[in-house]
Amino acid sequence: MDINILTDTEAAMLQELIAASNHIVICGHKSPDGDAMGACLGWREYLCSLGKDAVVVLPDAYPDFLHWLPNSEKIVRFDKNQERATKLFQEADLVCCLDFNAPNRVEDMEKALVSSPAKVLVVDHHLQPSFDDASLVVSRPEASSTCELIFRLVWQLGGFESMSRKWASCIYCGMMTDTGGFTYNSTDPIIYFIIGELLTKHIDKDKIYRNVFNNYSSWAMRFRGYIMSQKLNVLDDLHATFYAVSRREMEEFHFIKGDLEGLVNEPLRIKGVKMSISLREDVERDNLVWVSLRSVDDFPCNKVAQEYFEGGGHLNASGGRVNGTIADAIEIAKKAIYAYAELLKK
Ligand code: 5GP
Ligand code: MN
Repeated sequence: MDINILTDTEAAMLQELIAASNHIVICGHKSPDGDAMGACLGWREYLCSLGKDAVVVLPDAYPDFLHWLPNSEKIVRFDKNQERATKLFQEADLVCCLDFNAPNRVEDMEKALVSSPAKVLVVDHHLQPSFDDASLVVSRPEASSTCELIFRLVWQLGGFESMSRKWASCIYCGMMTDTGGFTYNSTDPIIYFIIGELLTKHIDKDKIYRNVFNNYSSWAMRFRGYIMSQKLNVLDDLHATFYAVSRREMEEFHFIKGDLEGLVNEPLRIKGVKMSISLREDVERDNLVWVSLRSVDDFPCNKVAQEYFEGGGHLNASGGRVNGTIADAIEIAKKAIYAYAELLKK
């Protein structure tokens, strides 16, 4: 099995890039998920094992169910510590951008990122990377997760032996979350080879599963049930569903970040449904609705995200936004579903 993903020249470039850097900033996308967090923290472990000063800087809050990740308490949040984060970017000699394909995916942190004088390394599995002037771009859209890529880089660079249990847990977390617990986008045998290797580091994979997926507050559980029972619109003939969640409802159910994570997948459990759309009002900003889309088989929800929601993503998992009210977002979602009626009906 060929674990190595870089050519010898690229591997040498990466090694040189790391060797020449002492102050390294590692960043992930806005609203970081298990893959972004796992990749950042896992890569940090690797760099620290080489004696580097490496700091993870994230644009904003991460969900409650990821707080168990080792060293997450050391993460610098840009929204909370703008000055410190900006200084770290300014003083860095290397910035590693993990699990996102374009600087604007860090939203408000974009300026601090692009104005850093540091060299840039990108490791990602989204389509169409667009970073100007990056020193090395490791873009593998066919990979299940960025954590898989991080593992393979560490392996290729000879760092596996020094991998600790905590470090391995970060990698497993991202591989697990980006594949829905290995239920989609996870047919590559290499994934299971990697898991086998991670298990030799004594990760507790069942506990990691429970930490991530079975960790709702009672409010979150009730909120999810409420949305599925009261708010879900099922367009049976069109094999599509959508739901819209308002800020008022979020307040009512004591919403905190992560409470609705993955809920957009739930309607795909209805027989025949090919696409599910989630619309959620921003908790602070007016006229901003966050959109998540999921699909099955070859239905391209990333095209819908691109055409209707200023977004994009993977074939079966994408996101975007509506700069408007929740009512506007509902109208756009309906329009998008009807526009794709033929393909959805197939
Ligand atoms: P989620 O629904 O979990 O927020 O996002 C699902 C997938 O779509 C993730 O892989 C994410 O990176 C991608 N995605 C979410 N929002 C955007 C966006 O605005 N633009 C692009 N290109 N991808 C997005
Ligand atoms: Mn990812």
